[in-house]
Amino acid sequence: MSKRLIIDAGHGGKDPGASGFGVMEKAWTLRISLYQYKRLKGLGADVSLTRSGDMTLEPMQRVARVKNQYDLCVSNHWNAFNGSARGVETIHSIHSKSAFAADLVNRIAKATDLPVRRVFTREMRKGVDYYYMHRLTGKTETVIIEYGFIDNKTDHDVYRQEAVFYEAAEAVIEGICQKIGIGYARPTPLNKAAVPVMKSKPAFEKCFVNRRVESIYDGKLRFYIKPSWEDKDVFGHVLLGQGFPTVLEKIKVGRGEQYRVKNSKGRVFYITASQAFVRLV
Ligand SMILES: [Zn+2]
Repeated sequence: MSKRLIIDAGHGGKDPGASGFGVMEKAWTLRISLYQYKRLKGLGADVSLTRSGDMTLEPMQRVARVKNQYDLCVSNHWNAFNGSARGVETIHSIHSKSAFAADLVNRIAKATDLPVRRVFTREMRKGVDYYYMHRLTGKTETVIIEYGFIDNKTDHDVYRQEAVFYEAAEAVIEGICQKIGIGYARPTPLNKAAVPVMKSKPAFEKCFVNRRVESIYDGKLRFYIKPSWEDKDVFGHVLLGQGFPTVLEKIKVGRGEQYRVKNSKGRVFYITASQAFVRLV
């Protein structure tokens, strides 16, 4: 029988977790967890989720969903500290070996180019795990992943790039597949399209109105005189770090999305809303 697995999206609801640069940890943990859940299901894993929406889970409710019901639990988190600490961490129970946690940290570091900070374990007193996801989850082997520091500009900007965000998710999926003994296949563009669009968008994506949008693209990024992707509707370009002071709304244009934006003189333009090219600040 294949091993049973649960993905834990850290925090949620009244508990936003850490935050940085306008993003709450609970939004990123949900987004990566939903993606991993759907992909792992597609690969044939026996997988569950602790939460699939923005809901509050008290520690006791969370562990009740995990304890002894699964062979493996991967708990997704982002770190925060003083703005300068950075890198990927994984934490395993004092009662389990470090191999799986070390494998995950190395895979994530490779996929994102972020440094490995540490693989560690922590005791509250002799023989007792410090973190409740280890202490109170019984025989379920739980690894906590801290993908990076949400309050560190470099780490944060790495995960703002949608492509890298999902590379990190894939790195963990591949590690899990190896651990539970099922075959891994990278998503082709075709079956990537088969991953359902998430119904619950991360909170930060909903809060775009009246925010500044700026280019994270290292080149000339086009903006348009009307909602369009066509060359003839290009009005100009913005360079890396440049943008528009006010987002009015997000709209669907063809197969993509654009922000309707206002410049400092009140003129209205349209620019891609893809997180691979722009970010809200
Ligand atoms: Zn956390």
